[in-house]
Amino acid sequence: MYKKYPSVLLIYTGGTIGMIENQETGALENFDFDKLAQHVPELKKFKYRISSYQFDPPIDSSDMEPPLWSKLVRIIKYNYDYYDGFVILHGTDTMSYTASALSFMLENLGKPVILTGSQLPIGKLRTDGKENLLTAIEIAAAKDKDDMPVVPEVCIFFDSHLMRGNRTTKMNAENFNAFHSFNYPVLARAGVHIKYNTSQIRRPDLSKPFHPHYVFDTNVVVITLFPGLQENILSALLNVPGLKAVVLKTYGSGNAPQKEWLMRLLKEATSRGIIVVNITQCQAGTVEMKRYETGLQLIDAGVISGHDSTPESAITKLMFLLGHGLSYDEVRRKMNISLTGEITE
Ligand code: ASP
Repeated sequence: MYKKYPSVLLIYTGGTIGMIENQETGALENFDFDKLAQHVPELKKFKYRISSYQFDPPIDSSDMEPPLWSKLVRIIKYNYDYYDGFVILHGTDTMSYTASALSFMLENLGKPVILTGSQLPIGKLRTDGKENLLTAIEIAAAKDKDDMPVVPEVCIFFDSHLMRGNRTTKMNAENFNAFHSFNYPVLARAGVHIKYNTSQIRRPDLSKPFHPHYVFDTNVVVITLFPGLQENILSALLNVPGLKAVVLKTYGSGNAPQKEWLMRLLKEATSRGIIVVNITQCQAGTVEMKRYETGLQLIDAGVISGHDSTPESAITKLMFLLGHGLSYDEVRRKMNISLTGEITE
């Protein structure tokens, strides 16, 4: 009887996982997917149909940009009906931004899109790349007893943990546990078995078709509050021509200093139609602007809550919503609701 093997498309963008040391300079440089695959002979042991697409040239993820997110979406769209799942090999530095952006762009996604990479190149003896890659492929191909994908979400798999992509932050440049999902439970843990946290995994609305999006508006900025921030500097930033939205990283549960000029500048900005979203500088926890006087005054200034959003998710969501030409009120409304599980409402 004809047996349909699971199928996975590997999209290789670059990053440490596929890098090799330049003998002369000692710096890490990209090499192509075929060479990468040579270092993982285990790939052939999967009873899966595995195809690959590679960025030419592969890039360090510091060079990742919104047009390349659109390119990834295009690749997934063209191949959507032909594969059970997708694995994106990506540098770790901006992986959480890409995962967040894709989670918004791939509306009503019904298949796994798993990003992974590594801290050590795949050619190194102690590389973490092999385990990350092999398990990511297994997760991308996994189906439940009804033959439905187990994780139809954009995720990051790293160091044995499967996390919702738009909840992750790169938090370690040294250890193998490079990513953490501070405000949402992990979706799976890979040990002897891969144990899925099924109740935390999103299900697509099967009555709606998969709908890819491609547009962004990058007239945005992230501003971090710090003791000593000057009025003239903040004023210059908020008055940059073309600016449409700001992610404001405040203290603790969403607090800002009680300075007259700060509130005035923010109020002027929001009155001019600039969206200001309040997220916390803390890695874990949520913004509660009604908790302290220092937060309440931000509400008066027209600042909206970013809830427990990561910075990566808040900024990519703003770019995504603004890219669709939504009105000021509509962007503010959508920032307050979860589109793909990026915030806890
Ligand atoms: N600089 C690399 C990148 O993000 C680091 C990595 O892959 O871990 O592409």
